[in-house]
Amino acid sequence: MSSKYQHETVTSVHHWNDTLFSFTTTRDPSFRYKNGFFTMIGLQVENRPVVRAYSMVSANYEEQLEFFSIKVQDGALTSRLQHLKVGDEVLVGAKPTGTLVAENLLPGKHLYLFGTGTGLAPFMSIIKDPEVYELYEKIILVHGVRLINELAYQDYIANHLPNNEFFGDIIKDKLIYYPTVTRESFRNNGRLTDLIVTGKLFKDTAMPNPTLDDDRFMLCGSPSMLKDTCKILNELGFQEARHGNQGHYVIERAFVE
Ligand SMILES: Cc1cc2nc3c(=O)[nH]c(=O)nc-3n(C[C@H](O)[C@H](O)[C@H](O)COP(=O)(O)OP(=O)(O)OC[C@H]3O[C@@H](n4cnc5c(N)ncnc54)[C@H](O)[C@@H]3O)c2cc1C
Repeated sequence: MSSKYQHETVTSVHHWNDTLFSFTTTRDPSFRYKNGFFTMIGLQVENRPVVRAYSMVSANYEEQLEFFSIKVQDGALTSRLQHLKVGDEVLVGAKPTGTLVAENLLPGKHLYLFGTGTGLAPFMSIIKDPEVYELYEKIILVHGVRLINELAYQDYIANHLPNNEFFGDIIKDKLIYYPTVTRESFRNNGRLTDLIVTGKLFKDTAMPNPTLDDDRFMLCGSPSMLKDTCKILNELGFQEARHGNQGHYVIERAFVE
């Protein structure tokens, strides 16, 4: 097999519900990445690698790698991956990459992280990155899901991270977590796009309406979520970072349809 992939061992598995799970693996010391990046991961199936793109949930300083995954019942990879057990081997592509990094953005005061479904994954590594908090006054993480039980990492973000012994205080001061649910009654309801257009998101989080000078966005979601949200941002005058030029926002697909 090609050395494109490192062989890592599963160290824990957590099932959130019937459709979502997370797992951790060992990490090769040579595997380096920026928070917000993704890599190809997968399994060896009948002597050939079946791999898909996955964002790292683990921050780049953590000892183990962590991934957050969908379970697609007939999916080539996740029909198998969902049965992972501690001790199993996974392939981890040696060349992580990605667009969801602050250096692609113009300087600003507020960083909005808009993730739907497993699009939360890259933002998990970003909200654990102390350097991001030095760049922004506020970081607003919006996680949009259909059902309450899809709000993975809710307890970690709301309760665990603010008590981090090294940077808990800065998290308490700067991180605003806004989970929103579309198909069940919850404290925040509604689609991300509607929450932006109506201004409800800004009102609920006590943030000013976004301006070109102050506000920056990272988006990770379905192709349709990205299309709709980009349209709204473009109409407000925000520009996507592209071709090495910094912009007001960056996007990454959470999956391909
Ligand atoms: C840049 C990038 C980063 C990604 N990061 C992650 C990640 O961190 N976690 C993750 O679970 N997936 C992620 N994906 C999607 C992932 O690559 C695979 O599509 C997913 O693992 C399913 O693989 P599969 O072979 O089982 O099914 P596939 O044949 O790949 O997908 C079958 C169908 O399932 C649906 N689907 C696939 N993935 C998702 C998803 N994540 N959420 C909702 N519907 C989906 C789509 O309709 C797709 O056409 C990412 C994709 C890209 C392009």
